[in-house]
Amino acid sequence: MHKVNFKIILSFLLLLSINFIFSQKKFTIVLDAGHGGNDHGANRTYDDIGRIAEKDITLAITLKVGAMLEKNKDFKVIYTRKIDEYPSLSDRTNLANRSKADLFISIHCNSSKKPTAYGTETFVQGPDQNDTNLEVAKRENDVIFLDEKDKQTFGSYDPSSPESLIALKLQQSKYLESSLLLGGLVEDNFVNKDKRTSRGVFQKNLHVLRMNAMPSVLIETGFINHPEESHYLASDKGQTEIAESIYRAVIDYKKAVDRKSGYAASTKKPEPEKPVEVALKNDFRILLLSSPTKYNDGDPALKGLNYILPIKENGLYKYYYGVTNLASVRDINIKTAKDAGFRNAYAVGFMPNQKLNTGYYTIEVYTGDKLNGNSFILQNLKDVERNKENGVFYYTYGKVQTLEDAVKLQKDLEAKGIKNTVIQKVAK
Ligand SMILES: [Zn+2]
Repeated sequence: MHKVNFKIILSFLLLLSINFIFSQKKFTIVLDAGHGGNDHGANRTYDDIGRIAEKDITLAITLKVGAMLEKNKDFKVIYTRKIDEYPSLSDRTNLANRSKADLFISIHCNSSKKPTAYGTETFVQGPDQNDTNLEVAKRENDVIFLDEKDKQTFGSYDPSSPESLIALKLQQSKYLESSLLLGGLVEDNFVNKDKRTSRGVFQKNLHVLRMNAMPSVLIETGFINHPEESHYLASDKGQTEIAESIYRAVIDYKKAVDRKSGYAASTKKPEPEKPVEVALKNDFRILLLSSPTKYNDGDPALKGLNYILPIKENGLYKYYYGVTNLASVRDINIKTAKDAGFRNAYAVGFMPNQKLNTGYYTIEVYTGDKLNGNSFILQNLKDVERNKENGVFYYTYGKVQTLEDAVKLQKDLEAKGIKNTVIQKVAK
């Protein structure tokens, strides 16, 4: 009897502590003071106030925002730096991802070659909208080349690989709405509370935004090169006002998010698991273009897309991008192709391992002038077929029934050093 009671009490206590832990899950915000250490960011020297550097202004504002948020028990604040040091951009995003933060706010100052440029702007992750923001992208991303570690991390991200693009696009769409909400609130507060001029909220492809798995914004709090705004940025009054506006935006954001989720965070139940996407029967490739011209990998006509499979049919080369049997990935691939500039791109279904009823697949190993017997291809391949059409020679190799076998055959040829071949569908 005594033992049973003890067990009941123990499980009750356990339940209580679990409840306590869940109800205590704080809204975590990573505050990132831009630049630092050897990276001064934008800077200017004025006769009256001397030299001012972006790294000092961003740190001052960040510490003020943090102090305001820390007074509220609902928030947990994590700083990427609290002193004049330089954490790499990857250190910053890794910290945010590791701490499973709910928000990431990077604070910066703007600068422009135009001395008249002034006002605030906030960036969220996305494709670059136009070239007028190129200066920002260059300035805020170029920092990455300051250290080797970043180069390695950045190097491992291949923007042209479909996997990276998929991850990027999913992440963008997942957090874009929330990021835009926060960005809008930040700019609203600057305008309504501080009577600043807002240049708006923009999408920009920036490292600190791209690599984060949470809603993220990068705030340009004003222009360090503008005669008046620079003094505002460097003043305690200016820094306090900016910090208050950012603080208020976070409060407004949290309210909006809590309202949207329908109940207070303290009673939040774990979200039901999303059903796993069912694979489609067909494989889908995105048809980019059909052309009588053969383009090899990396040709500018392919607009920087990789993983392209050309298939020749009826004298035309059809260039297909990516392959997937998931509807979600197919749709992302279509969007990627369109974003790259193939406006009429569309998905084409391929039944896997389907044998051709009539005809066959072969590999076009070479087109152009007549090959002589000492050529690499003819020396290394037996049974190459030769055709001549309009003065051009076409050399093909092999006969298989399915596209999959043709891809295999193509890979075998590549291993032998015969590259830039094209699968050809021959209807007979
Ligand atoms: Zn900056």
